[in-house]
This record gives sequence, structure tokens and C-alpha cells, in this order.
Amino acid sequence: MTALPNAGAGALMQEVAAAVVENRAWLSELDGQIGDGDHGFNMAKGFGRAAERIGAADTLDSALNTLSEVLIGEIGGSMGPLYGMMFSDMADAVAGAEAIDAQTFGRMLHAGLDGVRAIGSADVGDKTLLDTLVPSVAAYDAALAQGGGFADALTAMTAAAETGRDSTRDMVARIGRASRLGDRSRGVLDPGATSCCLILVTLADGVARRLDG
Ligand code: ADP
Ligand code: MG
Repeated sequence: MTALPNAGAGALMQEVAAAVVENRAWLSELDGQIGDGDHGFNMAKGFGRAAERIGAADTLDSALNTLSEVLIGEIGGSMGPLYGMMFSDMADAVAGAEAIDAQTFGRMLHAGLDGVRAIGSADVGDKTLLDTLVPSVAAYDAALAQGGGFADALTAMTAAAETGRDSTRDMVARIGRASRLGDRSRGVLDPGATSCCLILVTLADGVARRLDG
């Protein structure tokens, strides 16, 4: 298959939510070192609640909208609005599609990135989730531009997400709570970059498995 049916992709978002919930302790531990330690708790609360309200048969846009509504309406911290906007803009990009092909998925990634940029005003190098998201979207685009298929682009996105996450370890935070630590924010992975990597990798893996199957 070269595309994923939009209907039934709710199950994919349930997998993403489960991955976030499973990694809550790690995410909070990272945030405890350079922030206030609530990142895993906030993320697990939001994604966990959303998973209960997402049906496996839902379309991807419907599942993304449910997740966004929970994050914006019920979750505090920076993550509520940032990821809330990302998922809502992603939903708009796939709404109405019969199937999600490589181009549609790419449009969805760009919409999510633009959404985070619009409200966060951070840039690459500031030690935020953008250090994962920006190179991931660029790698996805580049793989397609070089003639790769959907699965190749997802593989490239996964590798870039991990490299992007790891790049934050040596960065000094320039925005958000961790920036108050100045130089002492160096040496720890950014929690948001880490959760963003987890989301993208789980999404890519879930889509790739469905393309195979
Ligand atoms: P809080 O900082 O309010 O406690 P969280 O702990 O849930 O919120 O999230 C912290 C993460 O938010 C950081 O690791 C960083 O990746 C991300 N972040 C903070 N501000 C921004 C921003 N302006 N743009 C993008 N990401 C940001
Ligand atoms: Mg925090």
C-alpha cells in the first residue's frame, strides 16, 4: 500500500498516546532536571484522557482533534497550547481525505510545525521541541524530493527525530522555563524535544506497519 485509509487511523493515535503514557517517568525526570518536573505528568494526563475518548475506528483528523481539545482545554504547562495547536492544525490538513498518502502526511507535518511556530515563537537551537520537529519535517521532505516513497520518508523522519532530540543535550535553553537556568540547562535532553521524538517515531512506526500490512 502507498496510503493509509483515513478511517480507522484512530487506532494509530491510540498507539501514540500509549507510548507517551509509558514514558511519563522519563519525561518528568528530564523536566525535573531543567524545569519543574511536570512534563511527563502533563503529557500522560492529556494523552491518556484523549485515548479514552478516541475510537479505534475514528478518522485521523477526528482523533487529532480529540487530542487537541483535551490538551488545550484540560492540560496546563507549555505543552497544552503548543501540542494542542500542533494537533489541531494537523487535523485540518488531513480533514476530508479518503486516504493519507505521502503528500497528505507531509502537508500534515508542515501544518503542525507552522502551528507550533505561530504560538511558540521559538526557533531551532533554543532547546525546545522544535529541535526535533524542524529537522524531522525537513528530512521527510528531502526523502520524497530524492525520489523515495512514503516508507522511506518515514524512516528518514525517524532518524532525524532521534538526532534532533539528541542535539538538545548540549544546548543552552533560550526560551521557556529551562532558560532561567542559563548554562546549567546544558547536559540534559530537552523534555519537549524528547516527547516530540516519541510522538513522531511512534506515528512513523504505526503508519509504516499499516503500509506493510
Ligand atoms: P512548562 O515549561 O510550563 O512546565 P512542560 O514541562 O509541559 O511545560 O513543557 C516544557 C517543554 O516545552 C520544553 O521542554 C520545551 O520543549 C517546550 N517549550 C517551551 N516553550 C516553548 C516554545 N516557545 N516553543 C516550543 N516549545 C516550547
Ligand atoms: Mg515543566
